Amino acid sequence: VKPGGGTLLAVESATRILVESFGPPQETETVDLDRALGRVLAEEVRADRDFPPADVSAMDGFAVRSADAAYAGAVLRVVGEVRAGEAPVPEVVAGTAVRIMTGAIVPRGADAVVMVERTSPVADGAITLREPVSRLENVRQRAGETSRGDLVLAAGRAIGPAAIAALASVGRARPVVFRRPVVSVLSTGDELVPPSAPSVADHRIRDGNAPALAALLRTLGLEPRTLDRVADDRDALAERIAAGLTGDLLLVTGGVSAGAYDLVAEAFAAAGTERLFHGVAMKPGKPLLAVRRERVIGVGLPGNPLSACTAFSVLVAPALRRRMGLARWENATIPASLEAPLEGKPGRESWHLAHLEWRGGRVVARVVPSRGSGDVLSMARANGWVVTPREGGRFPAGAEITALPWSGFPT
Ligand code: AMP
Ligand code: MG
Repeated sequence: VKPGGGTLLAVESATRILVESFGPPQETETVDLDRALGRVLAEEVRADRDFPPADVSAMDGFAVRSADAAYAGAVLRVVGEVRAGEAPVPEVVAGTAVRIMTGAIVPRGADAVVMVERTSPVADGAITLREPVSRLENVRQRAGETSRGDLVLAAGRAIGPAAIAALASVGRARPVVFRRPVVSVLSTGDELVPPSAPSVADHRIRDGNAPALAALLRTLGLEPRTLDRVADDRDALAERIAAGLTGDLLLVTGGVSAGAYDLVAEAFAAAGTERLFHGVAMKPGKPLLAVRRERVIGVGLPGNPLSACTAFSVLVAPALRRRMGLARWENATIPASLEAPLEGKPGRESWHLAHLEWRGGRVVARVVPSRGSGDVLSMARANGWVVTPREGGRFPAGAEITALPWSGFPT
């Protein structure tokens, strides 16, 4: 299907084709825990012991027998001390207490801990309780949180700080994670100069797409390879694209529309790829091209920065997340209410730049004006998109609309 001519593939169908073409991850590896942040867990992790492993104190105070401590004013002789990291030696017998620190094992004989704030200072080797203490008060019981063998982390979740704490605590110092997809980024166009160019002639523009796509890939937890820019030259493109089709995905920007120098589709074909689709019913992003050569996927993104970023985020990112092994790979859209009326044109699913903001317990979406898909700087005023359906429609102010925040919940 050619962009502009004939039928355009629905966004949903294009997503499905990409997701199925990428498929789930095939390989795993182990990593050190301090390199595990952002990786995707490839194994189920269970508790290797009870949590806590023994009855421990939740407070600094005194371990007591609740039977001795049922009334304010009870006097108990302090017979010893137990610290966190110490195996308890003293035993609490009738009429006695043992000074205990948070995390220390509750000594034999004791069944409760009284907070230090609820006792008198130690006088003549004894404390007086200010309040009664009940059984198991301030005691974290053995296995009270998690039993040995219980599921702690399921496979397919991204490892964040909480998962790191869990992995460390169950002794998984080298968790098994999925191998990360290798993604290359290639920007094309005669007009492009590097962002660091000291001066830029009027017929040139700085390459914003390669850095933006690299950043989008990094937010997924990937380490992209940025290839050297290439001009709109048939031979150069063919050679660079053929060579770039390694790893898991080659992302190309520019040169996929219907212009005379849009040579990327041809270069992909010359590299022996099979076309998955060309042209999607979305705005921006219509000329999107997807190909494959064996297990390597090639994606041609339109050169306009807004189109490139939108097409990547809406269609490519979900497929990539699945290939990364994430159990939840679909775009996490949320309902938002429109601040002002919005008209969606029929024909293509439209992704409008938006600024999403919490207001009165709900997310309000303000559409960010953009002069079109070339308006790269308009993106800097947005933090997400709202989408209007392919059939178009009028959405009044206050109407609920589907929004896609760029980074989880809008802040
Ligand atoms: P193309 O898809 O090659 O027809 O490009 C469409 C528009 O996007 C043109 O105005 C290009 O100058 C612009 N463009 C292409 N590549 C980039 C890029 N890497 N960074 C910024 N703008 C680009
Ligand atoms: Mg071009």
